[in-house]
Amino acid sequence: MSIEQVGIVGAGQMGNGIAHVFAVAGYDVLLTDVSEDALTRAIAVIDKNLMRQVSRDMISEADKNAAMKRISTTPTLTNLGRADLIIEAATERETIKQAIFEDLIPHLKPDTILTSNTSSISITRLASRTDRPEKFMGFHFMNPVPIMQLVELIRGIATDQETFAACESVVERLGKTSTASEDFPAFIVNRILMPMINEAIYTLYEGVGSVQSIDTSLKLGANHPMGPLELADFIGLDTCLAIMNVLHDGLADTKYRPCPLLTKYVEAGWLGRKTQRGFYDYRGDVPVPTR
Ligand code: NAD
Repeated sequence: MSIEQVGIVGAGQMGNGIAHVFAVAGYDVLLTDVSEDALTRAIAVIDKNLMRQVSRDMISEADKNAAMKRISTTPTLTNLGRADLIIEAATERETIKQAIFEDLIPHLKPDTILTSNTSSISITRLASRTDRPEKFMGFHFMNPVPIMQLVELIRGIATDQETFAACESVVERLGKTSTASEDFPAFIVNRILMPMINEAIYTLYEGVGSVQSIDTSLKLGANHPMGPLELADFIGLDTCLAIMNVLHDGLADTKYRPCPLLTKYVEAGWLGRKTQRGFYDYRGDVPVPTR
C-alpha cells in the first residue's frame, strides 16, 4: 500500500502541525477546513514553525521551501478524494467527524485509509459508520506535533493488519515513534496522564498544597519536565475535563470523577494558556498562580 498523498481535515492547532510534519517527510499534503481563515492562519503558522526549525539548524532553508511547496489548501472537502491517507483533525465532536466521513466517502478511492486524530471518541464507532471499517483507525498525534515524538496508533475492532502496518510505516517515515493501543476510552497516554492531572487538581482543591508546591513537587520529586497544573493549562482545562468525562462515562468507575475545581475553572472560562488564565495567570511577564 503506497502512501504519497495525504488529506488533512481541520487546520487548527493539530491539523497545521500534522501538515507540517508530513510535508517535511516528503508527502504531498492537501489541507481543508470549514473556515478559510483557519486555512490562512495554518499556512502562516507552518511557515513560522518551519522558519524556527531552520534557525535551529534542524532543517535547511531549501528543505523548508520544499516542504511549503508540498502543502496545498482547499475549502472543498471532497477535493481530498484523491488522497491515499486521510487524517481527520477537526473539532472534537462526534457529529462533526461523522458528517465529514459521510461527505468524503463517495469521493474516495477504494483503498484510501481513513484515520481520526480524536483524543477520546470511539474509533470502532466512527469506523462502523463508514464503508470501510477495516481500513479505518486512530492516528493520535501529541501537541505540539512537530516537537512531540509519539504517535498512538489505535485499532478499531475491525481494523485489518495491512492498514495498521501501513500507518506504522508512515509514522516511521515521519521520524516519529508509534505505540499500539486498543480502542478503549482515552487510549494509553490520556488514560494514565489525565487521572494524574485530575489528582493534582484534587490535591489543590483539598488544600494539601498550593499550585506552586504541587508543580514543584512533581518537577523536582518525580523528574517531570512540567508540573501537572502547568501541563493542564497547556493542554486546555476544557480538554482535560472532556477527557475525564469520557473516562468516567466510558469506564463507569468513580475513580475517574472530574474534580469539582476543574469544572469550576472551565465554567469561569479560565481554560489555561489559550484564554490567558487557568491555574496560572499568563497576562503579565511571568505566570502567576491563581490559587
Ligand atoms: P482546533 O479547535 O484548534 O481545530 C479544529 C479545526 O477544525 C478548526 O479550525 C475548525 O474550523 C475545523 N473544523 C470544524 N468543523 C469542520 C468540518 N466540518 N470540516 C473541516 N474542518 C472543520 O482543535 P485541535 O486542538 O486542533 O483538535 C483537533 C482534533 O485533534 C480533535 O479531535 C482533538 O481531540 C484532537 N487532539 C487534540 C490535541 C490537543 O492537545 N489539542 C492533542 C491530540 C489530539
